[in-house]
Amino acid sequence: MYRAVFLDRDGVINEEVNLLTEIKQVKILPNVVKAIKILKDLGFYIIVITNQPQVARGLLRESDVRNINNYIKKLLSRKGAKIDAIYYCPHHPEKHHQDIKPELLKYRIECDCRKPNIGMLKKAEKKFNLNFKECYFIGDKSVDIQTGKNAGCKTILLKTGYGGKDKKYDVEPDFVCDDLYEASKIIEKEVKKIKAVIIAGGRGERLRPLTDTLPKPMLPIGGKPILEHQIELLKKYGVKDIIICGYYLFDKIKKYFSDGKKFGVNIIYCEEKEPLDTGGALKNAQPFITNTSFVLYGDTMLNMDLNKLLAFHKNKGGLLTVVLHETDHPEDSDLVEIDKNNRIIKIYKKPHKKIKTNLAKSSVYVLEKKIFNLIPSKRHSFHSTDLPKIIKKYRVYGYVTNEFLKDVGTFDRYEMINKIYLSKQKSLI
Ligand SMILES: [Mg+2]
Ligand SMILES: [Zn+2]
Repeated sequence: MYRAVFLDRDGVINEEVNLLTEIKQVKILPNVVKAIKILKDLGFYIIVITNQPQVARGLLRESDVRNINNYIKKLLSRKGAKIDAIYYCPHHPEKHHQDIKPELLKYRIECDCRKPNIGMLKKAEKKFNLNFKECYFIGDKSVDIQTGKNAGCKTILLKTGYGGKDKKYDVEPDFVCDDLYEASKIIEKEVKKIKAVIIAGGRGERLRPLTDTLPKPMLPIGGKPILEHQIELLKKYGVKDIIICGYYLFDKIKKYFSDGKKFGVNIIYCEEKEPLDTGGALKNAQPFITNTSFVLYGDTMLNMDLNKLLAFHKNKGGLLTVVLHETDHPEDSDLVEIDKNNRIIKIYKKPHKKIKTNLAKSSVYVLEKKIFNLIPSKRHSFHSTDLPKIIKKYRVYGYVTNEFLKDVGTFDRYEMINKIYLSKQKSLI
């Protein structure tokens, strides 16, 4: 799923004039081009949503509206600011006038597209496969903010145009900005916050029958799902935007955590249509990843200093940092060889022969967005195909730690982790 910034047209992109009927009245507001470029670079679709009741009033034809829309689109795209779609509502619900021309009656209806209804957004949602929760609605009237709220988008009121003075709807926007440029900078800041991707797929074959009714990440440790422990850890280090990828019994996870508010975080879900491996899961989450991100596997209990890990990653400046730990079950782990600068030079996939190193690849990563360009498709195996290629060409580092980090892969390990947790031999979280 993807995300979009919905823009109102008049008073947001172009100067608000009382009645815009001709293209010569179109004046693009300052810095709109710059703002749209920023938003496009962040991976947003730019979709304009505008009420044009002048059509219903007989002051404009639909073809005039389309001409003006196309003209605005052209003006912007010439300067490198692409608008992906413009939706307009030509309707108005008033019917009591006696003098409505018969050909206009079709526009005098209670439609589902006139803002604050979300008919136009729904169309865009379908066409662009959008996740409203990750979308923004930007407008200059309270009706725009109400529309955004009705769809569950984040909302930004601009001081350009009406600047919210219409006061028709009593709604609080999430942000108020001087203009579209300032709004784009706020969105940039929001999306560049460090995020975490939790890969919560996997059937958990070896933990049957426990995993017949619960996905592995929902198995309790000390009475709480593993996933909840992870979310608490992330929150402790200020990572509040979490993307959970999954397939198997995914509804159980969604139901438990919902939007994350109860746990003090924001969660979005990337549901797989078929079970995917790490590469596929990451590829699915790609539209939501704009910067450096943590990646965790949902079956790992860990208590790590994430700030230290992040500082290591930033200092090394690699594309990817893989957390490594000395394993007590090397035969059952992917082992890793690093050089004296901690750069990963070789990975030994299990099953493998006895090898000198006992540094095991854990399921905690820090990655840069650029790595997605090196994962070719959703049907690829990240660990056996992509990663070995990536370490040859790019800098991938191993962060060696003895902090608590154990995967709940088998009954024995699950039991052991529960024991450790309950006896508080290690303070987990
Ligand atoms: Mg407006
Ligand atoms: Zn309409």
